[in-house]
Amino acid sequence: MPIDTAAFLSSLDDRVEDIVDACTRCGKCALVCPTPALAGIGAVSNEALTGGVIDILKDMPHSLEAETWARACCGSGFCIDACPEGINPRFMLTMARRSLNERRPADDARAEGRQAFKAMQSGVRMLSRLQLAPELLARINPAAAVDLVRPVGVAAILLIELAIQQGWSIGVGTARLHLDRRDLAGLPQSIFPIH
Ligand code: SF4
Ligand code: SF4
Repeated sequence: MPIDTAAFLSSLDDRVEDIVDACTRCGKCALVCPTPALAGIGAVSNEALTGGVIDILKDMPHSLEAETWARACCGSGFCIDACPEGINPRFMLTMARRSLNERRPADDARAEGRQAFKAMQSGVRMLSRLQLAPELLARINPAAAVDLVRPVGVAAILLIELAIQQGWSIGVGTARLHLDRRDLAGLPQSIFPIH
């Protein structure tokens, strides 16, 4: 069935309106969210953070901290049961990011997209190598296999750790793999919380 993009976007707008109407800016979602502390905005009150996100959704001037929170949300979902108004705060932050992205000049958005794609490409390359047995990697790509398994593994581990530290979105499976590979690479287990 063809996707009706206009109808889909309009349904998102309707949901955003409902959120703006229902949110009391109580801050309970921010209270249970691990991201503000990790993103260096833990000193800002939970009410101010959530209020700032509602300002973003209303296309009003907003705080830098609210923008940081919205951009750093890693999708963990700890907030989902926290809202007494039945709002899904993770969706609320996703819509705040959408709103922020829509306001950026097209050139900036394209440059950022290219950069993100390059980073993802490099991460996927490292992770795929990491998951191959050394013998298989040697058969498929001898150049990459020359004493590369451990450096690539360590690089991938550091990349995932950086993602966890920065609150970038990674899957639980990737995080678990990360811990397993730390063992294989002879490194101590990560000190970063995985959620
Ligand atoms: S989904 Fe986003 S807002 Fe919700 S707890 Fe996780 S990081 Fe915080
Ligand atoms: S989304 Fe819910 S929990 Fe978060 S501030 Fe609004 S009303 Fe409170």
